[in-house]
Amino acid sequence: MSQNLTVIRLFDPWKSPLCTCPRKYSLHPYTGCSHQCVYCYATSYIGLKNSIPKDGFIRRLQRDISIIPRGSIVELSTSSDPFPPIEEKQLLTRRAIEILARHGFRILITTKSHIVVRDVDILVNSQSAVMITITTLREDVARLIEPGAPSPKMRVEAIRKLVDQGVPVGVRVDPVIPYVNDDPNELTEIVEVVASAGAKHIVTSTYKAKWDSLKRFRELLGETGLKINNLYREKGVWIHGYLYLPVDYRKQLLKPVVDTARKYGLTHATCREGLIEYNRAQSCDGSHLTILKQLK
Ligand code: SF4
Repeated sequence: MSQNLTVIRLFDPWKSPLCTCPRKYSLHPYTGCSHQCVYCYATSYIGLKNSIPKDGFIRRLQRDISIIPRGSIVELSTSSDPFPPIEEKQLLTRRAIEILARHGFRILITTKSHIVVRDVDILVNSQSAVMITITTLREDVARLIEPGAPSPKMRVEAIRKLVDQGVPVGVRVDPVIPYVNDDPNELTEIVEVVASAGAKHIVTSTYKAKWDSLKRFRELLGETGLKINNLYREKGVWIHGYLYLPVDYRKQLLKPVVDTARKYGLTHATCREGLIEYNRAQSCDGSHLTILKQLK
């Protein structure tokens, strides 16, 4: 089936056996990503590029949805943000979720952008959920590591607005990067803030290094970048194409996130960590939130 699809793809995170995601499809209205996160994994495959609309995207989507099973989970997006600044004018993502909703697909949005709130009218009337990524609440750190993305404050505000209108929301505290956003108090505060904004689910993971993102850290974060580089080169272990930190270190980094999620009664999971003991949710990626409205 996958050979005939042109814009929808069966989600397959590079065949990693550590991925615990349910069967789902991914959809990217844009190629590249204007958010330009220093730690981005996708750049190792496509390079660092701003978001560009895909040619004939809507026409190809309309064809692809006739191929995949009705009711499938479709995630926008797994390796580019579906709400880059140009989406405000392009409306490609809006049109895509309109089509998916009309045809009865479950829609999982993963974004760093408040622009998603614009489409609350569609999201609230479909089997949809939104995962907002927040790696730090410090505006200066966010500007450094996610220079093209909306501020953390705008993202927290977006959570509130979506929740107020009845859209299930989860948060990705992802990735946790040593020396950058690994302060346990800060991680605890992120979860507290998003829990009070109404988030229901937390996904977290550690930064897994690729050569190109390590290079960006070295170039853009000075001394801190060098420390990150040295840590991963000295202690990192290659697992399925990524440099992972040792498991005990990763557990320690993610513990404040998981403990705080538990304290506030949120479901929680990790992403490609192999830390099953840190997972307490029907799905790791927040897919279960897409049917939350029906479960009420
Ligand atoms: S938002 Fe996601 S896809 Fe876009 S640059 Fe950041 S990490 Fe990469």
